[in-house]
Amino acid sequence: MTYQPSALVSPQEVFAAFDSVNLIDGARCHTAASLDVLNPATGAVIGRASASNTAETNAAIESARVAELDWAQVPARERGKRVTAAARAVAEKTELIAQVLAHETGKAIRTECRGEVKVAADILEFYGNLGSELKGQTIPYHPRMLTMTTREPLGVVAAIVPWNVPLVLFALKVGPALVAGNTIVVKASEEAPFATFLMAELMMRHLPAGALNVVNGTGAVCGDALTRNPDIAKITFTGSEAVGETINKIGAERIIPVSLELGGKSPMIVCADAQLDKAVAGAISGMRFTRQGQSCTAASRIYLHHSLHDAFMEKLSTALNALRIGDPLDEATDVGTIINARQVATINRYIALAEKTPGATVTRFGKMPEDKHLSPDLFLQPTILSDLPDDHPCVMEEIFGPVAVVQRWSDYEDVIARANSTHYGLAASVWTRSLSTALDSTARLNAGYVQVNQNLTIQPNVSYGGFGRSGQGKEASLEAMVEHFTRSKTIVMN
Ligand code: NAD
Repeated sequence: MTYQPSALVSPQEVFAAFDSVNLIDGARCHTAASLDVLNPATGAVIGRASASNTAETNAAIESARVAELDWAQVPARERGKRVTAAARAVAEKTELIAQVLAHETGKAIRTECRGEVKVAADILEFYGNLGSELKGQTIPYHPRMLTMTTREPLGVVAAIVPWNVPLVLFALKVGPALVAGNTIVVKASEEAPFATFLMAELMMRHLPAGALNVVNGTGAVCGDALTRNPDIAKITFTGSEAVGETINKIGAERIIPVSLELGGKSPMIVCADAQLDKAVAGAISGMRFTRQGQSCTAASRIYLHHSLHDAFMEKLSTALNALRIGDPLDEATDVGTIINARQVATINRYIALAEKTPGATVTRFGKMPEDKHLSPDLFLQPTILSDLPDDHPCVMEEIFGPVAVVQRWSDYEDVIARANSTHYGLAASVWTRSLSTALDSTARLNAGYVQVNQNLTIQPNVSYGGFGRSGQGKEASLEAMVEHFTRSKTIVMN
């Protein structure tokens, strides 16, 4: 082994260890160019990540291609055991990985980062236990003929992840891909690559060289090279709608499967008979305010029945004002930063549009941090936009920030139509004590993940994925591994 990830003890050592490197064929490989990675809370450069060119990206794919020849021949249960061991290696380093993640994403360590590492390790362990579930079927074609289907790996998988929950999304792709017998090349997010590299290197000690490779770089160069390489048999992408569309076209030209997890504008319908306190808590957690709303499934459109609007808003205001915005590494902090200045400008553009809209109100909650060592530029207060026209851009488009739209409703048929009115279809929730309302609304809401009296928490065994322009395919669950990381072969023996 040329590296010792277990010897790394501080975030600074991690940033130095992964200075301008990719992880290819079981080793750290230096790249010619690099990209600065910033701590969004202070504005300081924390390290330099690799900026892979096409040749450097292709080297990772070639390593995965060669490794696949042997990895696919390892019995599935044995592959699962290796992934389980890799999951445990990640779990043992939870604290260090969480600190690295807090430095590079600006997410609070207590409310977000530690939990993310634990969920990522849990997802890997879940898939590690599923090796023996890769089953085909026997088919009664003829009494003296054996007819069956088997599940085979696809080959080399290209996985591309964003910065908002990079480790969970990495695990949701790497776990099922490896257990199913594929090898994989992951492109980390250039905004937040180091926690992904550390996690991958910890895992690689339990895997054959080349089974898991990680590269980093811009989407336009490294991401593009990865998706266009003819040795890639499958692309799994999580990120924005625009990039998802580009990647889907590339996959279509090559006729390879593409899974897409894209944006959302998820509605939360609060009915007159909802349990108020539970619904308010659901709005805070569902909007992912502790992640500054930077979540694809954020409950960013809250439809309140007029009869409980004022009581709900009073409780929501109290809860939002109690959230402490500050240094992501401070244990007392609930809410950290936005990822970068570009994203802050986008969010502020939406808020300014709402402020200019007659009849609408914009309310900011909580206090901006005053600590001298922090740069104020990337902190934003939780913000509620109320009483906007239904076709307003703030109601129809993903803002990806701590900004929720609150709308009133009085007619049930009308609110279901309004909830279904965007081109997204990722998640939705309904808050009611009535079983018939729950049954009716869950059937009619146009979303891939519909909940009653709760908002999304990722469970490895519960599949999720979007409808419409929120994407195609599922992640999490046995179903996701079998359907999206294997192919079915029919064998007829006469
Ligand atoms: P993004 O699309 O800008 O980038 C995502 C990844 O794609 C990055 O690694 C980037 O380098 C890469 N990329 C960019 N251009 C590329 C190209 N031409 N070819 C290949 N790769 C390319 O998204 P982001 O800003 O990092 O993430 C935020 C978005 O992700 C939001 O829209 C959010 O809703 C979505 N998201 C969806 C889910 C889900 O499960 N549905 C989960 C998390 C985030």
